[in-house]
Amino acid sequence: MSLVEIKTRISEAETAAGRPKGSVKLIAVSKVQPNDRVRTVLDAGHRCFGENRVQEAAGKWPDFANDFRDLDLHLIGPLQTNKARQAMELFGNIHSIDRPKLAKTIARLAQEIGACPDLFVQVNTGVEEQKAGILPAEADAFIADCLSMDLPIKGLMCIPPVDEEASLHFALLAKIAKRNGLAGLSMGMSSDFEKAIALGATHVRVGSAIFGARVKPQE
Ligand SMILES: *Cc1c(COP(=O)(O)O)cnc(C)c1O
Repeated sequence: MSLVEIKTRISEAETAAGRPKGSVKLIAVSKVQPNDRVRTVLDAGHRCFGENRVQEAAGKWPDFANDFRDLDLHLIGPLQTNKARQAMELFGNIHSIDRPKLAKTIARLAQEIGACPDLFVQVNTGVEEQKAGILPAEADAFIADCLSMDLPIKGLMCIPPVDEEASLHFALLAKIAKRNGLAGLSMGMSSDFEKAIALGATHVRVGSAIFGARVKPQE
């Protein structure tokens, strides 16, 4: 478990970028990890975790919530509208707002429930067919629509294409966020979180570098 090492590297990257200490939040991505590894990180005092499946998160976090207070849970994977209510009950943050139908559903449920998680709009910066996210060319209009529905949009999220220089995508995401007046940038994973911090990431999503390789693939 190298939670301490990752925190040190984040802190060094903040300093190198001339950013205040503590300006980057570490989301420990616990998807598919065995519970004992997750518990080790909880025992070390970390409370901020990311999951990419609602179902999987629902199977493990209510139990952990009995033992650990102040959990800060982030949904970082695609969200189907029929799981939106469950996701809103489980997570304090949803990073995968990527289409009008989902935005409308969450706006309606937020009215009904009387609360809404903090939201990030996911942008498909690489314009990849198989990947979730609003296209860069449609991002401004979509963000404006979300804000007009009173959704608490805190920032943008991206997952760069695996075979391209991540920095180009981080810079694009930062540019779209800036022109829309959004402060949050959810970008950077195990292999590139320092580059993301240099380009303004406020949330980095780090899995394998903390927990070790995921032992089984998600089916
Ligand atoms: C799995 C995942 C991560 C973490 O990936 P690592 O390479 O293990 O750090 C980050 N973001 C998303 C959206 C993921 O699905």
